[in-house]
Amino acid sequence: MQVLRQPLGPGETDHELIWLSVSVASLGLAATWLALGLPWPRCLFHDLTGRPCLTCGMTRSAIQFFHGHFLAALKWNPLVFAVLCGVTAFDLYGFFALVTRAPRLRIIFWTAPEKKFARIIVITALALNWVYLLLHWRQF
Ligand SMILES: [Zn+2]
Repeated sequence: MQVLRQPLGPGETDHELIWLSVSVASLGLAATWLALGLPWPRCLFHDLTGRPCLTCGMTRSAIQFFHGHFLAALKWNPLVFAVLCGVTAFDLYGFFALVTRAPRLRIIFWTAPEKKFARIIVITALALNWVYLLLHWRQF
C-alpha cells in the first residue's frame, strides 16, 4: 500500500468534491428528517429476532456524535462512531483540498495480498462490532 500526494489530473474523478458533497447533503437530509419529527428507521432484523443487526444503533450513535457526546456515540455503535470520525476527517481534508487546490491524497494497493489484508481488516471490524452489539443487545 502506498499513499500518493498528487495534483488532480485532467479528467480524473474529483473524489474530494463528490464525497464531501454527498456527506454534507446526507447530513442535511438527516438533520431535516429528524427536525421534522419524521419516524426513525425501523430494523426488520431486530423486529424479527429481538437482537441487534450490524447497523443497529446507527441513528442514535450519529445523533450523539453530532451533539458532541462522543462516548455515548461510541457506546451505541463503535463502528459507526469510527466511520463518523473517518468521514469527518475526510470532509475536513476534502474541504481543505478543494479550497486550497492542494495535491490530492490517493491510496494505492499494489498487490493482491494487500487488498486481501484490507478486506480481512474490514470484515473483522464488522464482525467485532456485531459481537459488541450482540453482547449489549438489551439496550436496543
Ligand atoms: Zn438493526
